[in-house]
Amino acid sequence: MTDFTATRALFDLPPGVIYLDGNSLGPMPVAAAARVARTVTEEWGKMLITGWNDAGWMAMPRALGDRIGRLIGAEPGQVVLGDTLSIKVSQALASALEMRPDRRVILSDNGNFPTDLYMAEGLVRSLDKGHQIWTVDPEAVEAHITDDLAVLMLTEVDYRTGRRHDMARLTRAAHEAGALVIWDLAHSAGALPVDLAGCGADFGVGCTYKYLNSGPGGPAFIYVAPRHSDTVRPALSGWLGHAAPFGFEPAYRPGEGIERMRVGTPPVLQLAALEAALDIWDGIDMAALRARSIELSELFIAQVETRCPELVLASPRDAAQRGSQVSFRFADGYAAMQALIARGVIGDFRAPDIMRFGFAPLYIGEADVRRAAHVLQEVMEKRLWDDPAYRTRAAVT
Ligand SMILES: *Cc1c(COP(=O)(O)O)cnc(C)c1O
Repeated sequence: MTDFTATRALFDLPPGVIYLDGNSLGPMPVAAAARVARTVTEEWGKMLITGWNDAGWMAMPRALGDRIGRLIGAEPGQVVLGDTLSIKVSQALASALEMRPDRRVILSDNGNFPTDLYMAEGLVRSLDKGHQIWTVDPEAVEAHITDDLAVLMLTEVDYRTGRRHDMARLTRAAHEAGALVIWDLAHSAGALPVDLAGCGADFGVGCTYKYLNSGPGGPAFIYVAPRHSDTVRPALSGWLGHAAPFGFEPAYRPGEGIERMRVGTPPVLQLAALEAALDIWDGIDMAALRARSIELSELFIAQVETRCPELVLASPRDAAQRGSQVSFRFADGYAAMQALIARGVIGDFRAPDIMRFGFAPLYIGEADVRRAAHVLQEVMEKRLWDDPAYRTRAAVT
């Protein structure tokens, strides 16, 4: 059984802060500071270029990929780290489209995170083969799976509402129609148990700086199913995905298996921070994490609905259909969130009117949830949000 009181001490959170935004940027594991410092001073500083071999830098994207693999139900050796999630979405989609040369439809939903759709749009334009992107209501996805479908590209958990797709069911439906499936796990990895292998996903992608706590700008990951990983053709054919990067051959030959999804030089300092975060994750039972996350989310919903009648639940009421976040609608949600942050309760805001709260059991407990709801009640009852200081929007909301 995971002891979630003990995990709290493994994170460095400023005193007095209740952090409900780990779904956007996870907090710093205490061990990350020393781990990154060691890589800087002992490895980079002393080993210089020999660090690539002697400190194992070059092997990190695969080694850490496997540790994330356990959290997302991947087979060993099928996950690699690198680049940003936007790039990994494009990379997976390009490969998947190449595997369905006779089909022209990419299906997603209109709740998907914009960058996934933007990257698809850009790829379609550069391919110039007449692909169409259909974005339908999340509830209508299954009805739009037809024999024209090349790729179903979805994010399991909606970044705004926390609504969760049924991965197994939609993957099966897409496969029955002869299509391939890409799952974006940005709000799933480290938030709930994922079973990529069990549901038969073709590709999976996600980021590490949200629930996995790798720090700002931490690298993304990509999963390719074993049945595809030796044949898939990487469109982003960078030298580190080559079969012999240091052979410096003039033409591209894909590396073995998941290696081919690497592109360029790995971000070693970011990987060091991720390694410290994964030292925590290695000890976490994902089923226990999920149970705890549901308890906390249900408690928050009940508390907020009792204390703040102005707020309207925007997340599914059924816990099974939610990720690890809870969202409420409020017309002045931006100002209300700023007022809340000024009082030490950190969530975030997503246009047009969503106040978002993430529940990460590794460092959030029941007392935090009750306290957050209490502060929110004060902000609402006393209209503390109704202050010009809280209306000016920052670049990052
Ligand atoms: C957070 C998020 C991203 C972010 O992409 P980056 O390239 O890492 O900035 C992409 N897709 C989804 C679904 C996300 O939630």
